[in-house]
Amino acid sequence: MIGSGVLRGMGVTFKTFLETYPWGRVLLRVAGVPATNGLVTIQYPDEKQQHHERFRYFPFLIYDKTPENLRCVACKICEQECPPACIHIVGPAKDEQGRPLKAHGRTYPVEFDIDTSICMSCRICVDVCPFDAIFMDNQYELSAHDRYGSMVFDKAKLLKPAEYFQQIKPTEAKTVDARLAAKQKKADGLA
Ligand code: SF4
Ligand code: SF4
Repeated sequence: MIGSGVLRGMGVTFKTFLETYPWGRVLLRVAGVPATNGLVTIQYPDEKQQHHERFRYFPFLIYDKTPENLRCVACKICEQECPPACIHIVGPAKDEQGRPLKAHGRTYPVEFDIDTSICMSCRICVDVCPFDAIFMDNQYELSAHDRYGSMVFDKAKLLKPAEYFQQIKPTEAKTVDARLAAKQKKADGLA
């Protein structure tokens, strides 16, 4: 029916209006319409919203056990794929003869910076990384007065332990850990 969408929308608006008043909530309950407590805002920053696991802001680099054991091998795929080009990688690290240096059996970046002031939180860097080395963080309280000092995250600032990832995104971390364990098993010749 023509106009039914408009009427439905007006119904939602009217219900929300009623929910904001105690008498309105009583009316809705009497009419058998489920009503919320009418609160749509919180007293931020005293109160913080509990974000959904899939909430994402800027990326971080993950390490296992110690920061020297970072998963990033400096392949630079994420740097090439990042739409606003806000990832800057120097590396992989090399010795004086130009041979790649390794830490925990892997090459590693000398520098890894993300300019969070232009990152658009698209997650493409996460999706293209073949090494499960970069994931989206949920930290959003990052405002600063200076453009470069605080908003360009260097390697030290980007590195976070695997336990942190398990804590903020348990479902995704579980899938990633299972994938890495299967890969390791295959590499050890057990699968
Ligand atoms: S984060 Fe992943 S894709 Fe980016 S350089 Fe490191 S290993 Fe490569
Ligand atoms: S989330 Fe998107 S914009 Fe941000 S660093 Fe990753 S690829 Fe670049």
